[in-house]
Amino acid sequence: MFDIFSIKAFFGYPFFLRIVLPGTIWAGAMYPMATWLTTYLFEGRVNIALVVGILLAVGFVLVWVVDLLRSQVYLVYEGRSFWIPWAKRKLQAKLERKVERGYKSAEKEQDRQSSFYKETWAWLRMFPIGLDCKPSVKRPTLLGNVMAAYEYYPLSRYGMDSIFYWYRLWFKLPESIRKEYSLVSAEAQWLIYTSVALCISAVLYFVYLVLTLLARCFALPFLSVAGFDSALVWPTGLLVLLSLAFSYLAYRFSISAHRRVGEYFKSIFDDFRGELKVPSAPEAANEKRKFQDAWAYLQYGLTRCPECNKYFAVAEDKCPYCSGRSSQ
Ligand SMILES: [Zn+2]
Repeated sequence: MFDIFSIKAFFGYPFFLRIVLPGTIWAGAMYPMATWLTTYLFEGRVNIALVVGILLAVGFVLVWVVDLLRSQVYLVYEGRSFWIPWAKRKLQAKLERKVERGYKSAEKEQDRQSSFYKETWAWLRMFPIGLDCKPSVKRPTLLGNVMAAYEYYPLSRYGMDSIFYWYRLWFKLPESIRKEYSLVSAEAQWLIYTSVALCISAVLYFVYLVLTLLARCFALPFLSVAGFDSALVWPTGLLVLLSLAFSYLAYRFSISAHRRVGEYFKSIFDDFRGELKVPSAPEAANEKRKFQDAWAYLQYGLTRCPECNKYFAVAEDKCPYCSGRSSQ
């Protein structure tokens, strides 16, 4: 059945933030290259609205794929995977020095109410803070540390593994809280998706730049007629740099949005962990046996022998496995 309500929910405000906004920004960034290519290919006899429409459609699909690959995207931005080891070490060491300096200068400050003290700690709280009240650097990027900080919180405060218990808590959350959390996450994600989209446009302009330079230096016939005009070297170079700069800017802006997600994440553990029914180990073992016994009875009409723990048919009076032994 066609479920109009789920379709409506899918195309809600979070969809606009996660797909439409980054897709439109990508289309805008790619507009100059599209006009260069269409000017050559169709001698400018192309409807602008059509070019814009195609760009938007490609942009939406591209960002949709980014959304599907968000776990991998986040692994890169958090500095956990796909990194060159020395770059990872270097960036992490740099952050460690910065945090150490910040921590020391905050400790030296006598006045704990001063704005300097408060601002320094507001910055230090982006990093995981252990029960020794010291911030530590866990990952080479700021985003990685912001996320490590809130993911570490349930474990250090309550002994709860945040990934394991997050899904179990999610089922206990009221619908309104889930919606609120999805919205706050989308407000952080769209900036990361925009950053990825602009990285892709930087790569495409870089390829265009290389082809233009090849066309210019070697006068390759197939390139020089394909719209790779040497007059476009500087604009293309500029667009590579602009795409990269705005990509970084989007990433930086996402930091405070992710901190807000973190506050929601921590609050959910603080306020809702009591909703979880957590059995003790003996209780769980007992329950396991109860479910196994019920299954054996309902499925096959078997019961468990209290002596040897083997299952036998309820219709039999005695356990056929150990009745001989126990009577001896
Ligand atoms: Zn028995």
